[in-house]
Amino acid sequence: MTGLRSLRLPQMDTLSKRERSRTMAAVQAKDTRSTERRLRAKLVAVGIGGWRYQAADLTGKPDFVFPRKRVVVFVDGCFWHGCPRCYRRPSSRRGYWDAKVARNKARDRRVTRTLRRMGWRVLRIWEHELAKTPQRCVEKVANLLARRKRFTASCSAPSRKPRKAAARHR
Ligand SMILES: [Zn+2]
Repeated sequence: MTGLRSLRLPQMDTLSKRERSRTMAAVQAKDTRSTERRLRAKLVAVGIGGWRYQAADLTGKPDFVFPRKRVVVFVDGCFWHGCPRCYRRPSSRRGYWDAKVARNKARDRRVTRTLRRMGWRVLRIWEHELAKTPQRCVEKVANLLARRKRFTASCSAPSRKPRKAAARHR
């Protein structure tokens, strides 16, 4: 992915609007991927194990899956997932991007709901949280794992405990 690093903004003026959108999409995707890798490295560093990365076989393809604890973690890119704090509308093809981000957000909600019904605890972390307060993100994951009992087939019913400390955007 090093090729993307050579892309600079001034060059983008020479690109067509469509190409520019595509370039921007590639850059944003790369940012999100590197953020995920950062969380992955942090988990390894603090010795949190028992997870799989990008589980394609599970609804929504979560970035991190802790099967024994029935916990999934998503790292949501601030652009793609329309972060209320960071999302800025692109200057071109606004209709296209508005619709795309709205679709992504709707899908996120659907995926979260579906997974919760299946008994998973779902933690969503914003890209900016991970960038600014990585330690706090790792603590969030660790705390959630510590609160969860080991999952066995006999306790497949989703727990209905009151949720405390809902994720705040910071
Ligand atoms: Zn954000």
